[in-house]
Amino acid sequence: MNELSNSVAHADITTILHPYTDARMHEQKGPLVIEKGDGVHVIDQSGKRYIEAMSGLWSVAVGFSQTRLRDAAAAQMEKLPYYHTFASKSHEPSVRLAEKLVEMTPENLTRVFYTSSGSEANDTVIKLVWYMNNALGRPQKKKFLARNKAYHGITIASGSLTGLPGNHRDFDLPAIPVVHLTCPHLYRFGQEGETEAQFCARLLKEAEDTILAEGPETIAAFIGEPVMGAGGVMVPPEGYWQGIEALCRKYDILLVSDEVINGFGRTGARWGCEKMGFTPDILVTSKQLTSSYMPLAAIVFSEDIYNVIADNTHKLGGFGHGFTASGHPVACAVGLENLAIIEEQGLMENAAKMGERLQAGLAKLADHPLVGEVRGTGLIAAVELVADKATKRPFDPVGKVGGKVFEYGHEEGVIFRNLGDSIAVCPPLIVTEHDVDEIVRLMGIAIDRAADWAR
Ligand code: PLP
Repeated sequence: MNELSNSVAHADITTILHPYTDARMHEQKGPLVIEKGDGVHVIDQSGKRYIEAMSGLWSVAVGFSQTRLRDAAAAQMEKLPYYHTFASKSHEPSVRLAEKLVEMTPENLTRVFYTSSGSEANDTVIKLVWYMNNALGRPQKKKFLARNKAYHGITIASGSLTGLPGNHRDFDLPAIPVVHLTCPHLYRFGQEGETEAQFCARLLKEAEDTILAEGPETIAAFIGEPVMGAGGVMVPPEGYWQGIEALCRKYDILLVSDEVINGFGRTGARWGCEKMGFTPDILVTSKQLTSSYMPLAAIVFSEDIYNVIADNTHKLGGFGHGFTASGHPVACAVGLENLAIIEEQGLMENAAKMGERLQAGLAKLADHPLVGEVRGTGLIAAVELVADKATKRPFDPVGKVGGKVFEYGHEEGVIFRNLGDSIAVCPPLIVTEHDVDEIVRLMGIAIDRAADWAR
């Protein structure tokens, strides 16, 4: 480490509480300080390059050095660096991006509300739905259905929708009325001998039984990631989403597609809901919307929802909701340019093509003695490591060996993410065949090294 990196590392451990980090361990080990981006690579302070096989946090579609986004931000900074959208104020970047999102999302979605993060967006979804049901004179229709292992954010309300114990423990969550259903992952939650079709039927029965037990008049919405991300990359069984959609229609429950990770080609289709074959009433997007160069999220929802909300704002003489940065002009300008690049360069098509190569490459690791399951779709995948392949027995403690793969990955020059013992891969949409092959090769090496270590 040079002098600068020493001083940054020291200042880091003496000042910052890091998200998703064991603070005491961090004080001992120090940070990995990333200094530069270059295409699908990031470079640390010592000059070491890493393939960023997670796109940062599942989010950097166009890679880490797209100068067009820099220029779009600079031009907007020059013209109008900030203005708000409260009280009928507007500016062109927020309007043009809203038009674009309405054009790109399923036809029934016509209205946009902006926030700066996926968590705020899902918080806003909860508020919009509650506000709508109060306006409709059904104040008891407030509960959300979500799934175990879902990730919908970390604020008090969105963190309540999240179905991961680590996000609830010692935070006094869930703190809103939410019922978590079984995670739709056959490998882990299927019963002995259960087929995919039987598993799907059981999950749908559970969902309907839950709706009836709670009372359909109390259930406001079902929220789900079409393909689950941070919970471990889980693709639901065939027919699952069609079944959930049918239940939502039957019991007058809004269907929310959380596409914060899935959106813009990640799953091999434009939207996860398109890939999975359902039509949501509300779609939430962030991350790849700006390639995370600027913080931005958007909720795109139906005209029916809009009309109820709009009438109520008129009745009340205003809308008591909005963020200082809702529709931030620089973030929206970057989002517009980012979507232009994704379209011009055919990045969603590239993701579908490279996704097939990635899934096929990783599938070859399935025979490895440490690998329990390889799963995914498009450019999102995970390799789950197990202590016993035959019984699917996890490691004890969970994450011990996954953490090693993560660590060896760093040494080999690749950044994965270990979600427990599931090693996630979610590279930028610009990846080439060579990049994909490298990611697969380095995953194999890291797993081999972890197997030697675990022996
Ligand atoms: N929803 C999903 C599906 C996510 O994956 C995430 C973040 O990973 C969020 C919501 C929360 O987004 P943010 O971290 O921007 O608050």
